[in-house]
Amino acid sequence: MELNFPVLCTNPECGQPAIYKIASRWSDGVTGELKTYALSCDNCLKKLFAQSQAKQAACRLAPAETLDPPGIYRLVRGQLDSQLERLTDLEQILRTRKQ
Ligand SMILES: [Zn+2]
Repeated sequence: MELNFPVLCTNPECGQPAIYKIASRWSDGVTGELKTYALSCDNCLKKLFAQSQAKQAACRLAPAETLDPPGIYRLVRGQLDSQLERLTDLEQILRTRKQ
């Protein structure tokens, strides 16, 4: 199982395996999906989460579209997006630390 290539952190200078997925729930009123901003290791999470929040805030939406603020999910290989565990405690810690 671990012979597959590892999923790496989005930070190009990092190279560590990613353990978190930062993503927002997007919908056009009919269908919805999880829009991924970044995959992150433990060290880069704070930085990548802040970047993802900035990207989400800058995203232009059509009138019927909605895009939730980014959430942090535990990245588990082989799990569907809808099965991923959302780590809301971690999101809150990182949000309150933001300046
Ligand atoms: Zn990293």
